[in-house]
Amino acid sequence: MSSSGSPPSIFSRIIAREIPATIVAETEHIIAFLDIAPKAPVHVVVTTKDPQYQNVVELAAGNSALLAELVAVAEQIAAERTNGQFRLVFNTGAAAGQTVFHVHAHVMGSPELTDHLGEDSLGTL
Ligand code: AMP
Repeated sequence: MSSSGSPPSIFSRIIAREIPATIVAETEHIIAFLDIAPKAPVHVVVTTKDPQYQNVVELAAGNSALLAELVAVAEQIAAERTNGQFRLVFNTGAAAGQTVFHVHAHVMGSPELTDHLGEDSLGTL
C-alpha cells in the first residue's frame, strides 16, 4: 500500500523494479520508460518518482519545479529520439483517457521528419 492507502500504481511498481520496463532516462526525481503500447514510432512515458500527484494539474499546483524537471527530461528524450518535433500529452481524467493516476507525460514523435503526428493523430492516444 502507498501512504495514501491505495495500492501502488503500475508506475510505482516499475520505479521499484517490481515489474520490468525499458527505462530510457532517470534522474533523482523523474523516470522515463518506453510505453508498452506505443501510439507513435517514439512513445515514452515520463513520470515522477513521487506518486502523490495524480495528474499534471495537481503537480503544477503542488510542485511546479518538479513539473519543470519532468518537462526538461521529456525534452531531452525528444532531442535524442525524435526529429525535434513532438507531442507532449498529459491525459487528465478518466474521460480524457487517463488510465494510470500517477502523473505522467507521453512523449510522442518520430525519428524522421513526417507530418503523421499532426492533427489526424490527436485523440488517438
Ligand atoms: P494514460 O492512459 O495517459 O494514463 O497512460 C498510461 C500509459 O501507460 C498507457 O499509454 C499505457 O500503454 C502505459 N503503460 C501501462 N502499463 C505499462 C507498463 N507496464 N509499461 C510501460 N507502459 C505502460
